[in-house]
Amino acid sequence: MTVHAYGAQAADQPVQPLTIERRAPGPHDVQIDIAFCGVCHSDLHTVRSEWGGTLYPCVPGHEIVGHVSAIGADVTRFAVGDVVGVGCMVDSCQSCASCDEGLEQYCTGTGFVGTYNGATTDAPGHTFGGYSEQIVVSDKFVLSIAHPADQLAAVAPLLCAGITTWSPLRHWNAGPGKKVGIVGIGGLGHMGVKLAHALGAHTVAFTTSEGKRQDALDLGADEVIVSRNADEMAAHAGSFDLILNTVAASHDLDAFTALLKRDGTLCLVGVPEHAHPSPDVSALIFKRRAIAGSLIGGIAETQEMLDFCAEKGIVSEIEMIDAAQIDEAYDRMERSDVRYRFVIDNSTIAA
Ligand code: NAP
Ligand code: ZN
Repeated sequence: MTVHAYGAQAADQPVQPLTIERRAPGPHDVQIDIAFCGVCHSDLHTVRSEWGGTLYPCVPGHEIVGHVSAIGADVTRFAVGDVVGVGCMVDSCQSCASCDEGLEQYCTGTGFVGTYNGATTDAPGHTFGGYSEQIVVSDKFVLSIAHPADQLAAVAPLLCAGITTWSPLRHWNAGPGKKVGIVGIGGLGHMGVKLAHALGAHTVAFTTSEGKRQDALDLGADEVIVSRNADEMAAHAGSFDLILNTVAASHDLDAFTALLKRDGTLCLVGVPEHAHPSPDVSALIFKRRAIAGSLIGGIAETQEMLDFCAEKGIVSEIEMIDAAQIDEAYDRMERSDVRYRFVIDNSTIAA
């Protein structure tokens, strides 16, 4: 079926209206009418080919929420009308050790299939994401949403920003008695602050934006550090169990490793266009500190996070935009001027 979408034809081209084809639902497929789609910094990196390897036309979007509009004959977990979500993956091999453990993002069989820019047998050979009216996804990669209907737009960012911070917070046991830092208060970071706080950790927000100080406290931070202020940073030397770094640009990591306790971990989730300067190894060696990374999260833990957020009343702080404002939103995101996630009203895509 032909559906309206927004996408870019090349790295130096704007995001503009186009049409794409969606397959008819197969036996295990769920067809979703998309209501809202969050705008992740990864969309911007991909559209502008900052990481290389972007296939065009590029239709981004992996924070998808909507309603089931058709199901395949063998689908039992979903029915027409259900409120559902789709995150960063739409398929994986389903048979390697990682997939068996519910960690499809680390699939070693075929590799996971990204919701956009991933390999598919559907024309034109790469996947198209949520900046579109409709998507068709294998039922294993569809999530159930239990939040109240009026919160649906603010749930969309949980599908990437939420799970990408939840997974490392859980893996490194953020909770009572732990001091956890979140670096960069953008889309991912503001969810990291909310989730670390909800998990019971002593939560510290690091921002370069003096103007986000009060917001970070309102999001649930116990303390806020403006990271450009050396004295504020020094006061926390050697005190963190975990620091989750969401910054989307190259920067000095030593400023954060110095704040870790012995055996503490700096977990990187930001994927900047240009490499970070090489870290000081002695700062790691002399306190057995680690620099780690983490990639989104598996389907089972995404459902766990969605259910946890529904129960605790947690959603994202959003600014709703029309599809025609996507480029403007990218420019603002590049200037760290987002509070705290842009979400597209997908009813404006066909307009
Ligand atoms: P975002 O909304 O743009 O937030 C990034 C924040 O980083 C900004 O709001 C800003 O916060 C801070 N920042 C930006 N430039 C900075 C600089 N030069 N120095 C220091 N701080 C800076 O982006 P996002 O959507 O949260 O995504 C963040 C990164 O994570 C992107 O690289 C994205 O591709 C990546 N990502 C990774 C995964 C994964 O699986 N690992 C998943 C999704 C996204 P302050 O104003 O508070 O300083
Ligand atoms: Zn994302």
